[in-house]
Amino acid sequence: MSNATQPSRRAIGVVGAGQLARMMGDEAHALGLSLTVLATGIDESAATTCDEVVLGAAKDQTALDALSDLVDVVTFDHELIDLDQIESLENRGVVVRPSAAALRFAVDKAHQRHHFAEAGLPVPRFLVVDAIDDIRLIPFLDQLDGEPVVKTVTGGYDGRGVHFPESRQDTLKLIGDLAASGHVLIEERLELESEVAQVLARATDGSVALYPLVTTLQDDGMCVEVVYPAQVARHLVDEAAALAEQIASLIECVGILAIEFFVTAKGLIINEVALRPHNSGHWTIEGTSTSQFANHLRAVSGEELGDTTPLCANAVMVNVVGSDRPGSLIDASAVPGAHVHDYGKSWRPGRKLGHVTVVGDDATSVHVRAWESARVYGTRTREA
Ligand code: ADP
Repeated sequence: MSNATQPSRRAIGVVGAGQLARMMGDEAHALGLSLTVLATGIDESAATTCDEVVLGAAKDQTALDALSDLVDVVTFDHELIDLDQIESLENRGVVVRPSAAALRFAVDKAHQRHHFAEAGLPVPRFLVVDAIDDIRLIPFLDQLDGEPVVKTVTGGYDGRGVHFPESRQDTLKLIGDLAASGHVLIEERLELESEVAQVLARATDGSVALYPLVTTLQDDGMCVEVVYPAQVARHLVDEAAALAEQIASLIECVGILAIEFFVTAKGLIINEVALRPHNSGHWTIEGTSTSQFANHLRAVSGEELGDTTPLCANAVMVNVVGSDRPGSLIDASAVPGAHVHDYGKSWRPGRKLGHVTVVGDDATSVHVRAWESARVYGTRTREA
């Protein structure tokens, strides 16, 4: 059923054509939607599942205009975008979901930290500088226990742009180097008990559907494994849900919002947000009634959200990252219960090539089979 105040937008345009757009494409037709992607080449991951491809870069205004002219609403596969260009689409009447104002929370880590801190949300102690001689820098570093985490404010993903210097000398050198090309986020290095992610969908009328909380495991900054249910105490599950609802209404996003939290002795601390389907929500394809991809499309097209109730007791998703040599997709799929998602990318060591999800009643068996399949497929990441 269509949302009463918003016309349904059936032709969806996606900026970017990676695996997220590809998995949106898997859902679009069942929802009666068409999908056009902005891709840099016809060999990109989403090209095989979408209806149409517009060739061009995500930061090319002419390409963005060409995509917008073909569709009813524009959405995103990644946040490596130029917000001024997205605003210019909005200014000429293109419907963009999530909006440029909402996307700023995902694109710009400094904007996110400042606004969340102002709203009283839990974030690490932080400082943003654009020069090494900022007089706040040394006092800020002096009050921390040990060296900070140093991050580029824009453009980072999968741990790229996140640095863990080991000495004051390294910290200052790093900040100096990074400040030469933009703002630098410096924050306290937290002792993490674990990391969890809360994915939700928000519709154009502000209604929200929460997915269950999951535990995520990172290796070298890249997500390796996602486990449902989250391996944390019940009160943290409730806390994550409450914080996520607060964040969603603060950002006023439409579509999927994923919030990554650090679990610390002091409770949950926000790491970052993504305003698109997220790696921590891939398990929802098999594990819930409406996948995050379907709900993203429903939300951005102006439809009501689908049911996010889990269909299983346990789910484990393992990312497949290219190892030293290609593995076997056929053998990986032969592992009982393994749902293997291949992203159609050429093999390269270190490249995210696909993922495997196993759902079931027995947590250990689900975990073992997901890793067995991913290993056969050729993942190089380490098991937890
Ligand atoms: P990206 O934006 O590239 O995904 P993140 O900011 O999520 O990078 O950081 C990647 C990983 O680095 C996190 O998942 C976490 O494991 C670790 N990390 C980031 N910030 C901190 C911090 N302040 N304290 C401790 N660990 C951190």
